[in-house]
Amino acid sequence: EKYKEGLAKTRTGFTSKINDLVAKYRKVDEDFFEELEEILLQADVGFETVIELMDDLRFEVQRKNVKDTSNVQSVISEKLVEIYQAGDEEVNEINFVDGLTVILMVGVNGVGKTTTIGKLAHRFKNEGKTVMLAAGDTFRAGAIEQLDVWGKRVGVDVIKQSEGSDPAAVMYDAVRSAKSRGVDVLICDTAGRLQNKVNLMNELQKVHRVISREIPGAPHEVLLALDATTGQNAMLQAQTFKEVTDVTGIVLTKLDGTAKGGIVLAIRNKLKIPVKYVGLGEKLDDLQPFDAQKYVYGLFA
Ligand code: GDP
Repeated sequence: EKYKEGLAKTRTGFTSKINDLVAKYRKVDEDFFEELEEILLQADVGFETVIELMDDLRFEVQRKNVKDTSNVQSVISEKLVEIYQAGDEEVNEINFVDGLTVILMVGVNGVGKTTTIGKLAHRFKNEGKTVMLAAGDTFRAGAIEQLDVWGKRVGVDVIKQSEGSDPAAVMYDAVRSAKSRGVDVLICDTAGRLQNKVNLMNELQKVHRVISREIPGAPHEVLLALDATTGQNAMLQAQTFKEVTDVTGIVLTKLDGTAKGGIVLAIRNKLKIPVKYVGLGEKLDDLQPFDAQKYVYGLFA
């Protein structure tokens, strides 16, 4: 249901175009394929992914001897799911460990990072886990305060220091106190400045080091928040973060705000990082584990 609602824009943008196309052509031919390719590109599926998909489609249409365009839709859905699921093992949700699980949240300012931390905390708490937050973005004015508001809203503790303090010191405090209080999940906010890649890398590495010194193997997840409405910009951000840290998963925010939901496929196919959650609205429970089948069938529902 959440998927259906959240994907309404993508569905109207994408699916209605495909339906129009099917009505226009009826017979599968090269013109049909070309227009389909254009629709997929406009939905931000991404160039490489579209090329791969079109090759597969042409092959499949020939193999199954599909002549009628109205039968192509199911082949498209199948191929989209296949492309998404290709390769990697299915690790859509968080890898929780016994004891304290540490999640590092990274991403550029404005993409919905803080909101996502709140939503994740809410979700884990509802699963019966104890959750704590670490206000590791000590740079952006108001970031600590904003995280604090989310902490109060969800009802979880927030470990913080004053603005401008060393993020690594905040993390140290947070991990220590999470351990001593027997907390299950610690979600750490980080600064989202991409202007200086070297600074970003140094800061993330230092934070990493402090955390793993306290808990070997931690952080257990590094989740990158990306704004689905920013298309190719989100792809560039993902590439940069992938270069500076080991991103284990993506949270794609604001999927409800775009007609270009195809970006999910582009991210997965091009960057080989799983999309673990999608943001489908501004409320606390508007975060869903990503499910390729539900997603693709949601597009055509
Ligand atoms: P941050 O700077 O990355 O921490 O971004 P925020 O968490 O402050 O979010 C920026 C804006 O995006 C806020 O107005 C949020 O309500 C909004 N936002 C975050 N996630 C979603 C989402 O999944 N859907 C929608 N529609 N808005 C979202």
